[in-house]
Amino acid sequence: MHSIAQLDQLYLWHPFTQMRDWLASEPVVIVAGKGAELVDARGRRYLDANASIWTNLHGHQHPRINAAIRRQLSQIAHSSALGFANVPASLLGEGLVRAANPPLGVNHASEFKNPALARVFFSDDGSTAMEVALKLAYEFARRSGNQRPRFLSLSGAYHGDTVGAVSLGHIDLFHRAYSGLLFGSDQVMSPYCYRCRFNTAAPARADAREYRQCRWQCLDQVEKKLSSAQRRGRGYAAMVVEPLMQGAAGMIPQPVGWLRRVAELVRGHGVQLIADEVMTAFGRTTPPQPPGAVTTGSRAEALAKEPGGARLFACHEEGVQPDYLAVAKGLTGGYLPMAATLTTQAVFDAFLGRYEDFKTFFHGHSFTGNQLGAAAGLASLSLLEGPKNLARRRGLAAAFREALATLWTLPNVGDIRQVGLVAGIELVRDWRQRTPFGLQERVGIRVCEAMARRGVLTRPIGNVVVLMPPYCCTRKQVSRMVQALAEAIDETLRSQTTVATEARPRARKSKLL
Ligand code: PMP
Repeated sequence: MHSIAQLDQLYLWHPFTQMRDWLASEPVVIVAGKGAELVDARGRRYLDANASIWTNLHGHQHPRINAAIRRQLSQIAHSSALGFANVPASLLGEGLVRAANPPLGVNHASEFKNPALARVFFSDDGSTAMEVALKLAYEFARRSGNQRPRFLSLSGAYHGDTVGAVSLGHIDLFHRAYSGLLFGSDQVMSPYCYRCRFNTAAPARADAREYRQCRWQCLDQVEKKLSSAQRRGRGYAAMVVEPLMQGAAGMIPQPVGWLRRVAELVRGHGVQLIADEVMTAFGRTTPPQPPGAVTTGSRAEALAKEPGGARLFACHEEGVQPDYLAVAKGLTGGYLPMAATLTTQAVFDAFLGRYEDFKTFFHGHSFTGNQLGAAAGLASLSLLEGPKNLARRRGLAAAFREALATLWTLPNVGDIRQVGLVAGIELVRDWRQRTPFGLQERVGIRVCEAMARRGVLTRPIGNVVVLMPPYCCTRKQVSRMVQALAEAIDETLRSQTTVATEARPRARKSKLL
């Protein structure tokens, strides 16, 4: 065994990992990365098919991000935000507020007034960004007269692992153990079309959002929750959503229009909206360009240069601006741990007062506003807002869609859920019945192990395999990821397939992605 692998196995404890399984075989030791590739200690090369747990945007060792970090390092690595301002954090604050307030489009004529995001509170990771949003919303509600504020979040929600963030979550497997530590939050069904009890359509070879038959009962459920809380005089402080796609819930995408209508309901009840964009922010959910659209040249560049043209946040795709926007993972391009919670001037103002009023937001971290992270964040933002980046992401998302469509021929593929440059592929025993595999069969894990043997690294969520290519990927690399998945499914499940045959992709034009 490699000496570093030995040290790892002797001393470390890995996140979300059954360590008995971990200790049973030699782990892959990553020593380098370049672009979309990772290299291990034995010199093997892999495609980073989940963007290093959903963090990496532009690829590893991007010259501009590396240079920005080096430049900052030659000045100072870190000084405290408790008592002092610093250069890159101030500049990044300005950049984030600019990027988070694009014009939201003419076809979203406001039935409700979208707030502007005006203030940035920096922290360390997705969990702390959500913790900040939660505390701000709680205290804002109290100061606005709601003395017992509660929160509403989606079934299957995951918002991080700190105790507040866990309290907003609803993944029983992860959260049950800590129930004694948590405050209660309410849940409402998420629009999981593929397994929705209100969807009466038979399974088909297409994304379930496209062929679903329902009457949007999921929205009625949201309305019911909001109204009944109001009737009981226990109004919500905020509703928490991951816009467009719930990640750790199993890559559950929302049908077009869901977010917009939920925002209308929430605002109609005077409740605030927290958008957890820890996974979805910074262009991850930008839709593919429609077939035949211009992707290069001056017209594409002009489009990207329009204010808001870079389309960096998922909620803006539906013309929705939240009261709190939590970002992390991709904030630094995935290079350093840093997070931010953006909020409105109204929330900020509620914490203003004389010192002795003690209205201060009593919350902060040693590394709040860290200079190295902020320098990386600025470099990443400037890449994202660059003239060619939007066109590149849209082109790559279209290639991704094309590659993913080839998977419909596999009988163990039940649903393919793509939003921009993220996809969840749900594996089932029998696509005609949507029969799930038991978790104990470790199907997702085994398929990912077979992908790793083919030089493609990713991690499943139960029976859902996640593909999340870094934006620097070539079309060929994206096809290789999908091809490795197809072969891995075949290798792992060939003998278990009960209903194979004549599964043909139905030619459907996507109206969703
Ligand atoms: N929110 C969402 C939507 C996430 O996907 C995650 C992490 N997967 C978190 C919050 C927590 O982020 P972190 O792991 O950086 O604390």
